[in-house]
Amino acid sequence: MRNYLIAGNWKMNCGPAETQKLLRGIKNSDISIPERVDALVCPPMISLTVAANELQEEAGVALGAQNVHFEDNGAYTGEVSTQMLNEVYCEYVILGHSERREYFGETDQTVNAKVKKSLSDDLLPVICVGESLKQRKAGEHQLIVRKQVEAALTGVSEDQAAGLVIAYEPIWAIGTGETATPDQAQEMHKMIRDVIANLYGNDRAGGIRILYGGSMKPHNAEELLSQPDVDGGLIGGASLQADSFMEIIQIAG
Ligand code: PEP
Repeated sequence: MRNYLIAGNWKMNCGPAETQKLLRGIKNSDISIPERVDALVCPPMISLTVAANELQEEAGVALGAQNVHFEDNGAYTGEVSTQMLNEVYCEYVILGHSERREYFGETDQTVNAKVKKSLSDDLLPVICVGESLKQRKAGEHQLIVRKQVEAALTGVSEDQAAGLVIAYEPIWAIGTGETATPDQAQEMHKMIRDVIANLYGNDRAGGIRILYGGSMKPHNAEELLSQPDVDGGLIGGASLQADSFMEIIQIAG
């Protein structure tokens, strides 16, 4: 039985002061996190230390970063290593988000290098995959996403794969207010689980969480989360308000 994972991708929002405020809102919410839901927040790098301090006494909300480098240290201006994320108590790291692929030159190869480095250093990757509107209209969405998943997992063993997370995020649904229909989401999630089963077998595939991302909000979360292969959400906009984030968590439970 897979626990739901509701993850907030804060993107380039919330410096340290705002991070403290938002996390206090989450901690003081009237809604408590149901047992079958894991909650995760991914603030910007500069806010991770404040977030780690804020979440210390609050079991139940895990901390993640939005990117990491695949080398240990050295002359990589502007980058952050897995060890650094370990030091500030990150358990997860978002990798291959479409915004990083589009604006910062992230490729299937760099995503794969980061996935392997993260897994070997006790960070669970949330690997983002998804097609553009053009690719969907051309009927290429399954092929594109299959290739992204396979590329990200190249050289990852079945044992290493335990605990990693895939986020299916159709690019046309991110930040647009447009969501995939529950059927579209289920079709893609099932296909992704089949790809993972081909790589690692049904048992491992059955334990891997596949999140949906793309304008998930309290009003549409229930129908998306009720699909059999949708194991949670990677949430951008709606994770920036404690109320809507906690509402989605409640709905998942
Ligand atoms: C995201 O950035 O991962 C995302 C899904 O954003 P939004 O929920 O705002 O569409």
